[in-house]
Amino acid sequence: SRPTLTVVSPFYNEVEAIAEFCLQLRSVLDAMDVEYEVVLVDDGSTDGSWEAATGPDWPQRTVLRLASNAGHQAALDAGVRHSHGDFVVTMDSDLQHPPEVVAELLATIRAESVDVVYAVRSDRREEGRFKRWSAHWYYRVVRALTSVPIIEDAADFRIMSRFVVDVVNAIPDKKVFRLILPSLGFSFSTVAYKANSRYAGESKYSLRHMTRLAIRSSV
Ligand code: UDP
Ligand code: MG
Repeated sequence: SRPTLTVVSPFYNEVEAIAEFCLQLRSVLDAMDVEYEVVLVDDGSTDGSWEAATGPDWPQRTVLRLASNAGHQAALDAGVRHSHGDFVVTMDSDLQHPPEVVAELLATIRAESVDVVYAVRSDRREEGRFKRWSAHWYYRVVRALTSVPIIEDAADFRIMSRFVVDVVNAIPDKKVFRLILPSLGFSFSTVAYKANSRYAGESKYSLRHMTRLAIRSSV
């Protein structure tokens, strides 16, 4: 039988954050009174994140391990393909996406009967200047070069219905997971949330990575 909810979260060299992420996510999910599974995707970490992520026993958790660093978007795709839930959440593992919002996403997609609910960050003021600047330009470049109505600041924190996940999984070669949903025109709504700062470590999205993401998003 399917769980009601799957949470998919990729990680790449998050040794300082991943155990705390698991603890906080677990306490939220255990309090939600739904059957759930968690699919963590180790995107080729080399820093002991695998050991940290597979640490204390948690029966609902599966950890996939990619052979090398395939990138955030490819890791999301791998995790979503392994999901079984009626609803599937994707979120980051550095605690910038607050686990409490998962409950709100599930309540919203059920109440509004839409295909997707995006968690949209309501406040970027606490971020560094580079992050705000590169994020802003990413959305501008993608909008200019594609006709995809990508939602600014929606990034990769969202919940999808099983219908959406099955459609998305039928697309064999996705370059940018983030663009598939808006390009297919699913019905959606949004919930606002305030992002935390990174629990530890540095953003993996350097200028090189942001540029590569924008180019991949555009071809
Ligand atoms: N990530 C990943 N593979 C990568 C880069 C990042 O799985 O090659 C994960 C990372 O561990 C985090 C999420 O993707 O859970 C978002 O990355 P990051 O926090 O570095 O991006 P930012 O929040 O700065 O945009
Ligand atoms: Mg982050």
